Amino acid sequence: MLLLIVIAACDAVPGRVFTSSSSPAVLAATPSASSAASATARPATTPSPTPRPIADVLAQIDPAKLDDHMRALASFQSRHPLHPGHAKAVAYLMEQLSAIPGVVVQDIPTAYNGVRLDNILATIAPPGPRPDGLVDVPGMICAHYDSTANRTPGWRPAIDPAPGADDNATGTAALLEYARILAADRGSLRMPIVLAFFDGEEYFFKGSLAYLQSLSPNAYRWVINIDMVGFNPLADRLDLVYYTTKSASLRDRVSEANQRYGIGVSPLVEQLATTEAFILDAAPFGLVGGIPSVALVQRYGENDATFPGNYTFHTVNDTPDKITNKRLWLKAAKLTLATALDLARGGAQL
Ligand SMILES: [Zn+2]
Repeated sequence: MLLLIVIAACDAVPGRVFTSSSSPAVLAATPSASSAASATARPATTPSPTPRPIADVLAQIDPAKLDDHMRALASFQSRHPLHPGHAKAVAYLMEQLSAIPGVVVQDIPTAYNGVRLDNILATIAPPGPRPDGLVDVPGMICAHYDSTANRTPGWRPAIDPAPGADDNATGTAALLEYARILAADRGSLRMPIVLAFFDGEEYFFKGSLAYLQSLSPNAYRWVINIDMVGFNPLADRLDLVYYTTKSASLRDRVSEANQRYGIGVSPLVEQLATTEAFILDAAPFGLVGGIPSVALVQRYGENDATFPGNYTFHTVNDTPDKITNKRLWLKAAKLTLATALDLARGGAQL
């Protein structure tokens, strides 16, 4: 049973963009609707007649930048919504995203049990004039940036650390790299891509669920979630979680991208998620919203010979030194971006 409490917040902080818009496509089409966004929303490039090959775009993901972002996010001590480090993480994400020309950034607040949550959305839309065949309804790549250490005995969320390096600074760092890379590749897009940095995942997806509930039906064509992808020391394994058979085509697009671009995630294990397994930020979109949704995560089910289990998961010890498979992290980042670009360039025909 899911309970949803959404409290409209009106404590706008100068320099942030707050919106109650229920349609990201509207925002993407009219970026001047928000003053702070308009400075960075103007086309930085003209439509490219011959898009850069996707393999070349993937090669732009910089492992050093991934690492810098992950370490910065872990350095705030905790990104739990009750901890002072959370505001530092929000400021970091807003600052990083707002500095990229061509990215429209919003901080959309919500609340759970009186605790403020900040969902941060970065929209990257095709530059005007609209290319033929543009699809207004966007696709989404999402990752949660909040953290917890509630498996550490006696842990106090407002005071104690929750570095969340693997869970989920790894996925958050990937989204920051996508913002940089996709903003320079907007000319190849035929639909907007929204990068959603969700809060409150560790409260059981309250940030993503509240955001879904604020949308009109089918506000997104597809959702790809990336969460915990840097630990596995045994194999370059990812689980490909898909949410009901409605997501089977999207699942197949991920598998095809893994092959086509020689990304090398192996094994890539398909896992069907049902309402009895309501986990990860893709779950609200796939199971409640009925939107084709998948999640890439290093382990969804029980541990086996290809994954020992991240023993620091949800503890104060999920620190940057536990990111023991940077090759897997890069592969996960590439596979997510390859699938999204394939879809966004092709108009998202699933
Ligand atoms: Zn997580």
